[in-house]
Amino acid sequence: MPGGVDLHSHTTASDGARSPRELVRLAAKHGVRVLAVTDHDSTSGLPEAIDEAAHHGIEIVPGLEINCDVPGAEIHVLGYCVDWRAEWFEAFLAGQRAERTARVHRIVERLTELGVPLTAEEVFAICKEGSPGRPHVAQAMIKRGYVKSVREAFDRYLRADGPANVPRRRLTPIEAVAVIRRAHGVPVLAHPGLADRDALIPELVQAGLAGIETYYPEHSAGQIEAYRALCRTHDLVATGGSDYHGPHTGRASTLGSPHVPLSVWHELRARAERLERA
Ligand code: AMP
Ligand code: ZN
Ligand code: FE
Ligand code: FE
Repeated sequence: MPGGVDLHSHTTASDGARSPRELVRLAAKHGVRVLAVTDHDSTSGLPEAIDEAAHHGIEIVPGLEINCDVPGAEIHVLGYCVDWRAEWFEAFLAGQRAERTARVHRIVERLTELGVPLTAEEVFAICKEGSPGRPHVAQAMIKRGYVKSVREAFDRYLRADGPANVPRRRLTPIEAVAVIRRAHGVPVLAHPGLADRDALIPELVQAGLAGIETYYPEHSAGQIEAYRALCRTHDLVATGGSDYHGPHTGRASTLGSPHVPLSVWHELRARAERLERA
């Protein structure tokens, strides 16, 4: 759709299947004019994405996604227009990735105990320099022939209460909002419809949350209406994006879908400018 905006996407810098360059080319094909690259705990896909976007007249919004824990659920926080080149912020993300790397070692140990022997090296061969996560473990399991799909790996082993899911030290969503604000970014609650923790929204707003990812492939029409209303109540931007990960990632979304109007990006950008001055 022309004039489209997509504020949530992943590349090989985390668990996406496409390189930043490939992602941007695909965005061009889908008529996306504004694309946020929001890798997990990484902004290392941004330089390549920005370089490629210049050839297509696409604007890249610098972003990231931080997966957080609360009792019994996972909450993801998106950050937009952060000072991604700030040294302290890069160091923070490097720490997050080190924690991810250590967790891969613990997960493969656990899998090996469960009679599914796997080495960390096999996982790192798949994610390369990217931010390692369970989707890479799943790919390594497919390669070994243990499971047929990423979905099967999550369903049988890696899901939150699965036998091979080993927790890692994560931020709370309030801490994630704070670190994004400290980096002069706009914190947005990602796909709240997947987490069933809407009761936390007021305290997140108190901590500086500025938006809710409202338009999302897995949100129903009723959920979209409810999050639009919450955004009005709390003076938040109702954002949206595809959470595109690419083929064979167990995530079936289309880049640029659902349609998000350009005005959403303008609202988000206005917030970013306001926070930068604050
Ligand atoms: P991690 O970063 O290791 O905590 O893994 C979480 C990521 O795995 C999420 O951000 C999703 O991209 C992906 N994921 C979570 N659940 C599933 C699932 N059931 N099937 C495929 N991918 C999943
Ligand atoms: Zn992901
Ligand atoms: Fe997410
Ligand atoms: Fe995501």
